[in-house]
Amino acid sequence: MTVLDTAVGGPELVQQRRLVTEVPGPRSRELSARRADALPAGLASGAPIYAAAAGGGVIVDVDGNSFIDLGSGIAVTTVGNAAPAVVARAADQLSRYTHTCFLATPYEPYIAVAEVLNRLAPGTHEKRTALFNTGSEAVENSVKYAREATKRPAVVVFDHAFHGRSLLTMTMTAKNQPYKHGFGPFAPEVYRAPMAYPYRWPSGPQNCAAEAFSFFTQLVDAQIGADAVACVVVEPIQGEGGFIVPAPGFLAMVADFCRERGILFVADEVQAGIARTGAWFASDHEGLVPDLLVTAKGLAGGMPLAAVTGRADIMDAAHPGGIGGTYSGNPVACAAALGVFEEIETHDLLRRAQEIGALMVRELGDIAAHNGVLGEVRGRGAMIAAELVVPGTRIPNRDAVAAISRHCLDNGVLTLTAGTFGNVLRFLPPLSITDDLLMDALGVVRDAFATL
Ligand SMILES: *Cc1c(COP(=O)(O)O)cnc(C)c1O
Repeated sequence: MTVLDTAVGGPELVQQRRLVTEVPGPRSRELSARRADALPAGLASGAPIYAAAAGGGVIVDVDGNSFIDLGSGIAVTTVGNAAPAVVARAADQLSRYTHTCFLATPYEPYIAVAEVLNRLAPGTHEKRTALFNTGSEAVENSVKYAREATKRPAVVVFDHAFHGRSLLTMTMTAKNQPYKHGFGPFAPEVYRAPMAYPYRWPSGPQNCAAEAFSFFTQLVDAQIGADAVACVVVEPIQGEGGFIVPAPGFLAMVADFCRERGILFVADEVQAGIARTGAWFASDHEGLVPDLLVTAKGLAGGMPLAAVTGRADIMDAAHPGGIGGTYSGNPVACAAALGVFEEIETHDLLRRAQEIGALMVRELGDIAAHNGVLGEVRGRGAMIAAELVVPGTRIPNRDAVAAISRHCLDNGVLTLTAGTFGNVLRFLPPLSITDDLLMDALGVVRDAFATL
């Protein structure tokens, strides 16, 4: 038996970057071949390696290669893979009961998760939380709540938005390839406004917030009619769109405008929420108090769980039986979420996210100072992106992103890409990563830029 057959994940895993085969190795190639015969082509994976164990800041593949993880399974394993409190609580729950269906026979862990989210979510008003399985499902339900509470049909979203892959949320998502292409017709009553994207605002970043706000108000007041708009759904930091931090003041102006017109302000924090940005929620950085707050990815350490947390009067508007799902708020996932909260609180992971962010901004900023390909470094906390351009221009440089990702993979570092133009590297390390490991990974990123 090899070490791998018995290897378990979690922070006990040796924290190192170490390649023992070519990438991908023989066992990963074997799995790729089986996969090609068993899975449809539409399921694409970023890396050609297959996981065997993960924890701390590494993912070990089936060939025994140890990669540094800068993606956290797309901002999911924020507290680390197989984090002790998550494993302990989920395992304990597994041994008691795995499912009863909250709609049939309810249980305490669901209520406990709701109580924590109600306490943590911005605002001192009375709140309620409903649980779901995926980000898409929760975003979709936030729209159901908003429509029922306002009796209005329209939903306003933004350029570069990602809200999911179901019919409604795919419609709300901005990017055609790969998310929408060929999958229409789309859902009605979804309208899109420009995002206040400072780096790409035509008249420059200084005008960005005011001009984007003006486009937004014209769309709502002149084109749709404010009294037809149920909600505005926005990511306080756009994830898939490339970690776009809206121009300062823009979101607050949108939120105020919504309040004056009875439009609900929905923050999609599926990617940015739950400690990722160095605050419990990205909304906290700007003092935003969303009417409805949607969380998912980082919520349960990889177990499928999502939530809509919102003002009690809105959440109570939906009739009994109108909201729910067979698996929604699964007890094992709820136990895992309680483990996530415990990890964040006991290890002060909000502060850790800020430290990791400062380190990444410093290192990437230094690369940008010496390399014209790196156009902008942005983000908050441990949610940092690098937008790549053709030097001397702002023309998106997708090829450079592909070359850097490949170099990183070949040298034992797992990265993710993003952006409407595919020209953004996004860095989402688990908050359980050590400084040494992170510096080692950023050194590989630095080398990757140097080889361009
Ligand atoms: C990932 C994501 C979603 C969709 O979540 P799924 O769990 O993949 O359905 C929605 N909104 C944002 C901001 C996301 O990043």
